Amino acid sequence: MSIDPRTVILLAGVMGGMMSLVLFFMRRNYPTAIAGLGEWAAAAGLIFVSTLLLGARGAISDLLSVVGGNTLLLAGLALFHIGSQRFIGLRPWKRIWAGLILSSLPVMLWYTLVEPHYGVRVFTMSLLMAVLTAAHAWTISRHGIRSLASYLCIGALVVQAIAQSVRLFSAFGTTPDSSLFILSPAQTYFVTTYALCLLVLSIGVVLMATDKLRTEFEHMARHDSLTGALTRRAFLDSCAQELERDRRKNRVSSLLIMDLDHFKAVNDSYGHQAGDRVLIDFVDRVGGLLRRPDQFGRFGGEEFVALLPETTLDEALVVAERIRAGVEQARAQPGCTVSIGVATSVPGEGAMDTILGRADEALYRAKAAGRNCVRAAA
Ligand code: GH3
Ligand code: MG
Ligand code: MG
Repeated sequence: MSIDPRTVILLAGVMGGMMSLVLFFMRRNYPTAIAGLGEWAAAAGLIFVSTLLLGARGAISDLLSVVGGNTLLLAGLALFHIGSQRFIGLRPWKRIWAGLILSSLPVMLWYTLVEPHYGVRVFTMSLLMAVLTAAHAWTISRHGIRSLASYLCIGALVVQAIAQSVRLFSAFGTTPDSSLFILSPAQTYFVTTYALCLLVLSIGVVLMATDKLRTEFEHMARHDSLTGALTRRAFLDSCAQELERDRRKNRVSSLLIMDLDHFKAVNDSYGHQAGDRVLIDFVDRVGGLLRRPDQFGRFGGEEFVALLPETTLDEALVVAERIRAGVEQARAQPGCTVSIGVATSVPGEGAMDTILGRADEALYRAKAAGRNCVRAAA
């Protein structure tokens, strides 16, 4: 089967152009927390223009088509990698890639305009494309999220890097006056692989961005925006699951309800923002004192809850006292204390309302006892 390389290149260009548009609109509409979309959109756009220039070989000057097209193609691949680095949160290799592309420019100019040689140009381009795509694949596999989307990107980049490495050696067999558009099975294979890999890579990055957006939304839905603790609803969901597990396995868990003392006075004396900082510090402090399986949520205002799975009342009272003392000793200004009510689930019984009610009643008694203390449910 023979496919005209020029048609494949142009088709790849059109597909790349469309993916660039998709990425551009995603960048406009997605939260800025999802970085890299702008670079990906620009990368796909550059590659689109480069394919138009390469496809117009013969109709426009060689300087524009060969040198311009290939340089834009390299810049596009570099920008794709920089987009992925920004997406992951790594420092982009801007200087490395700019240096590499600029140093290839004299070679491309010489072997296009002064002493035209297709083989040398193929060698140079394949080498740089293999390096760029291999580095990109390495970045995503090393630091990226493990998902179908990232595997799609890595797959496309690895195939492309291998194809370019093979092409590197094929460059030795070419004659100086050969061209990209001379039909041969090898040429068709390289050009088709290039076009498909680019399309798969573009789809892959779109999916990676969508995955990340979903994860961000899920996180936002489950976490309080001020303190990062679980929201009331997320906490109650986790709590219900844990208590159901307790009921099946006949074990107990404990619940702590914590309420900051005279918090209204902190707001009144130091301002609402200082109050917010106290809440954030409190959550950081308590988070550091809890274990990994413990769930910690903000019930509302300055009231917090912690569920300690597989923890008896005595063990929970030790944790609660550690929290109370830790908050009291905090050096931060304005200072604040906390009152805590502790309750433990009854083996075989998993009703959440019951344990919440009992912990709340214990908290009420802690407040009545003068605050800054821990009380256990009766
Ligand atoms: P007690 O010791 O009896 O618990 O007294 P308290 O002042 O802590 O309790 P009260 O319920 O009277 O006041 C709670 C205050 O918490 C009132 C409210 O303005 C404040 N608050 C609730 N949510 C926030 C918040 O997100 N940020 C800040 N800064 N203050 C908040
Ligand atoms: Mg309070
Ligand atoms: Mg309160």
